[in-house]
Amino acid sequence: MAATLFTGGVIWPGDGSASSDALLVRDGRVCALGDAARQQAHGMQGQSASAVETVDLDGGFLMPSFRDGHAHPLLGGLEAEGPAVRACESVEQIVAEVRRWAEAHPNEEWVIGASYDSSLASEGLFDARWLDDAVSDRPVVLRAWDYHTVWCNSLAFERVGITASTPDPELGEIPRRGDGSPLGTLREWGAVDLMLDAVPARSLDTRLRALGRASEFYRSYGVTWVQDAWVESEDVDVYVEAVVRGMLTVRYNLALYADPRYFTAQFPEMLASRRRVAALESSLLTANTVKFFADGVIESETGALLEPYCSAVHKRGISVWSPSGLRDAVRAVDEAGFQTHIHAIGDAAIRQGLDAIDYVATVNGSRDRRPVLAHTQLIDEVDLPRFARLNVIANMQPLWAQLDPLMTVLTVPRLGIERADRQYQMASLLASGAPLAFGSDWPVSSADPREGIAIATSRTTSDGIPEGGWVPHEIINIDAALRAYTVSVAHQAFGDIAAVPWGSLRPGMSADMVWLGRDPRNSTPRELPGIPVVATYLAGIDT
Ligand SMILES: [Zn+2]
Repeated sequence: MAATLFTGGVIWPGDGSASSDALLVRDGRVCALGDAARQQAHGMQGQSASAVETVDLDGGFLMPSFRDGHAHPLLGGLEAEGPAVRACESVEQIVAEVRRWAEAHPNEEWVIGASYDSSLASEGLFDARWLDDAVSDRPVVLRAWDYHTVWCNSLAFERVGITASTPDPELGEIPRRGDGSPLGTLREWGAVDLMLDAVPARSLDTRLRALGRASEFYRSYGVTWVQDAWVESEDVDVYVEAVVRGMLTVRYNLALYADPRYFTAQFPEMLASRRRVAALESSLLTANTVKFFADGVIESETGALLEPYCSAVHKRGISVWSPSGLRDAVRAVDEAGFQTHIHAIGDAAIRQGLDAIDYVATVNGSRDRRPVLAHTQLIDEVDLPRFARLNVIANMQPLWAQLDPLMTVLTVPRLGIERADRQYQMASLLASGAPLAFGSDWPVSSADPREGIAIATSRTTSDGIPEGGWVPHEIINIDAALRAYTVSVAHQAFGDIAAVPWGSLRPGMSADMVWLGRDPRNSTPRELPGIPVVATYLAGIDT
C-alpha cells in the first residue's frame, strides 16, 4: 500500500498540538507526524524504495481541510444554469443580463435566475416592470442573495394568479403598489412558494451537473465536507444518484427541511431519506440532520426581534414556528436521533431556538446531540451564555461580519446602531466557552473560506473599511478562525465518530487536508484571500 510523506513546509494539525514539519499518510489516513513520520517512512523505504512517495510542500502550509458548516450546494451549482446576475452592480445590469440570457435561450419557457443583490433597490423592493422591459413574453423569476426573496416580471405574477385580490399568505409578504397589485418582489416562503411551486422542476441531470459543479468548486477552495442546510425529498434523489454514479468528490451531510405547515407528513419522509442514505454505506454522504427556520432575515424585516424594527415600529419580524410547535418538532426529530440545525437570525429567534434545545435536553435526556443554531446574527445578552451551557454550536458566516452595502444600506437602519453593533459576537461566544463553527451559506455569500477568515480576523471589508475593524472587540485571531472553519465544523459533523474518523491531523484520522501556498498565520487579513490553494486531499487523495 502506498504511503506519502509530506515535508518541506509547516504542518498545522488543528488539534491544539504544536506545528510539525513532516506528516506521513498511509491508506488514506494520517499515520504519524514529525520525527515519527520520517522514521516510519524510512523503515518502509527500506523494504521497498517505491513504498513512499514524498511531497515537498515548498515552504507551504498543510492543515486539516476546510469544511463548510452551512451552505446550499445545489442552489449554488444551479446559479450557473441561468442568467449570471450575481456579479451585477445595478438594476440596469441585471435587466440587461436577463435580456441577454433570454435571447440566447429562446426555447426556455421560463427564465430562472439567481441571485441578485437586494441592496441595489431601495428597501430591497424591485419592480416587475423593470424586468418586463427585458422579457415580457415569458415568465422571469429571480432569487435574491438571501434566497428568502424573489423578484419576478408581470407575466410570472399573471401565470401564478397573484393579483390585487390575493391575500397576504401565512409566513410571507407581498409588497404592493398603491392599488394593491403586487409590486414585483415576494418575501419569505409563504409568498415565495406561491411562485416557486409553479416553476418547472429541473431535470435530474441538470441537478447532478449542478452538484458536480459545486463539488469541484469546493475542492478548489480546499473544502472537503459541506452541510447542505436545506434538503427536500427530490434533492435526496440527486445526492443518492451522485453516490451511485461515483460522482461525489467531497463529503456531504443533508439537513432535511422541516416546515411547520407540513411537518406531520415530512417526518416519516425524513426517516425514509435517512434510511435510504444509510443503505448506501458511503463515507461521503449522510443525512443525519433536520433543518428548521426560526425566522427570516433582518434585511427583509422578517428576522424575529425581541424589540421592534427601527425602520417599522410595528414590526418584530416573522416567527416561522409557534414556541410549542418548534419545541415539539425538535423533540420528535431529536428522539429519532437526528441532529437539530435551526436558522436563527434575530434575537427572538435565537431565544426560541435555545428554548427548544433546552426543553429537548430536559425531556429527552442527555446524549451527544451537538445542536446547531445557524447565523446567530443578533444574540440577546441574556442568551449568550446559554450556548456554552447547552453546548449549542453557533454556526456563523464570517463574511457577513463587515460593513458592506448590505449591512450599511439594509441592516443598520433596521436594527439601529445599538443592536447593529451587537451582531456576530464571535469573540464573546468563544470567550464564553461556546463552540463556534463557520459556514459560508453559499450561494448567499462566497464559499471561499479564505475570504471569510479574512473578515473574521479583521472585521473590515476587502477595501479595509473601517480602519481597525467594525466592532473590533469581536475580532478573533487567526488560529481561532482556522479552527472554526476546520476542526470545529468536523465536530459539528460528528466527524470524530465516523467509521473512519476525520477532523484534525492526529494519527488515525482520515487525511482530509488542504495545502496552502503560505502560512496564513504570517499573513495580514488582507493577504489571506490571495494565498493559493495548492492541493485538496480527501482521504489522502488529491483530485
Ligand atoms: Zn442558509
